[in-house]
Amino acid sequence: MTEILDGKLLSFKIRENIKKDVEVLKNRGISPCLAVIVVGYNKASLKYVSFKEKACKELGIESMIFKLPENTEEINLIKLIEELNNNQRINGILIQLPLPSHLDQNAILEKISPFKDVDGFTPYCLGRLLTDNPLFIPCTPKGVLKMFDEYKIALEGKHAVVVGRSIIVGKPLSLLLLRKNATVSICHSRTRNLTEITKKADILCVAIGKERFISADMIKEGAVVIDIGINVTDTGRVVGDIDFDEVKKKASYITPVPGGVGPMTIAMLMENTVIAAKLQKELSG
Ligand code: NDP
Repeated sequence: MTEILDGKLLSFKIRENIKKDVEVLKNRGISPCLAVIVVGYNKASLKYVSFKEKACKELGIESMIFKLPENTEEINLIKLIEELNNNQRINGILIQLPLPSHLDQNAILEKISPFKDVDGFTPYCLGRLLTDNPLFIPCTPKGVLKMFDEYKIALEGKHAVVVGRSIIVGKPLSLLLLRKNATVSICHSRTRNLTEITKKADILCVAIGKERFISADMIKEGAVVIDIGINVTDTGRVVGDIDFDEVKKKASYITPVPGGVGPMTIAMLMENTVIAAKLQKELSG
């Protein structure tokens, strides 16, 4: 029988533990604080920022939201990041992506102090992951790995196929699967014969942003299927990159959308913020 990987329930459990952790820290005089920068008026971005703000509030983490106008100049954004890097009250800094097209995303992310990089997108943090010594692990891939742990899904020796190669999801997720001794194939928009590869996957993780793109005939019977995509249909429904109703009939485990990887991402952001608070306490002696 197919088991649904319930990210909502698992994230709730994780958040309860983080809440306790935050209380302990506060009793030691450490009050975790996350700064979130959002540039422009992208509706989805503003919605995600409000989710993050709400999660912080629920867990007793302080949040500071910086909403900058669409036409913000790079120099001013970098100035703000540098101020936040130097502000001892702030433990984590997050820039909501995507940034407006006139801003150089890589150049901006590089300015975040790696010790406050709770999203794990700076070259330093990604490099640490690549060299098997992670500092902050990007939240979505980290959340996916937590789901494998929780549901005791073995990865060693399995063929894991990741569809999508972004810095946010596909690439770090591939590295994490490799660290767990899976044999990893990475697919993207130029991959030839995608179905031939996805059909060989014991573990299939998809992050492409294409509504119900992966159909049942693209997966192997009994595969573990992780849907990371978030797409809004013409009728306003939120769906993933997987045709859930059909694929569910063949998969051994599957994540729903919503209620799968999404809630795990926010829980991991909260976890990374608490780790950052502890790390900075250590660094300051
Ligand atoms: P990007 O647009 O940065 O990357 C998409 C990737 O998919 C690219 O590597 C692209 O290939 C690949 N791709 C696109 N079309 C195809 C195709 N037809 N066949 C194979 N590969 C294809 O997206 P993100 O990684 O940022 O996000 C992906 C999805 O995950 C989105 O729906 C996003 O909303 C969702 N998401 C969900 C999160 C969550 O918490 N659940 C968090 C972050 C993202 P190429 O490199 O060749 O262009």
